[in-house]
Amino acid sequence: MTTASMIACHECDLLHRIKPLPEGTAAKCVRCGAVLYRQKKDSLDRTLSLTIAGLVLLIVANTFPFLAMKSGGLVQQTTLITGVKQLYAQGMESLALLVFLTSILVPFVQLAGMLYVLVPLKFNRVPWNLALVFRFLRSLQPWGMMEVFMLGILVSYVKLGKMATIVPGLALYSFVVLIFVLAGSAASLDPRIVWDRLAVGESL
Ligand SMILES: [Zn+2]
Repeated sequence: MTTASMIACHECDLLHRIKPLPEGTAAKCVRCGAVLYRQKKDSLDRTLSLTIAGLVLLIVANTFPFLAMKSGGLVQQTTLITGVKQLYAQGMESLALLVFLTSILVPFVQLAGMLYVLVPLKFNRVPWNLALVFRFLRSLQPWGMMEVFMLGILVSYVKLGKMATIVPGLALYSFVVLIFVLAGSAASLDPRIVWDRLAVGESL
């Protein structure tokens, strides 16, 4: 009996033996009823396809115009990165940095990192330094806050709407879809598919 097949209830610390479950079901603590773990359906494939979709959307969100402002005969187009540069130029350095980190850098590192982890696993290989990379990726999660940035866009949209005509660009739509894709990818990931593989890789 190895410790790898035991799980402690996170609520009441009662130890349980991990058993394979039918897909789409959850194991509950026999004492307090808390959910111990779930057997997510096709976790690796779903997370991998959502990660690839996310990466494509992120690239579109960063290359195409985010918004176009029409005022009189003047049309000004903004991309995500020129928006960051404008914030910086207007003396809002910390806000520019925050937007850059939470809306561009962190999502990119998260998605690229997930590919680094999931693609080898898909082909039954264990990527180099898997434990370190995966732990780092999970610690990054609270830093991807695109929803907050989206809220900021909506506020400025309403405010500027009185002064100029604002035309949402392709990047804005991709950005909105990306928020849902990232949430879906986080929800479909069962961390055990990564940790279980690590135990196999180490014993080789
Ligand atoms: Zn319990």
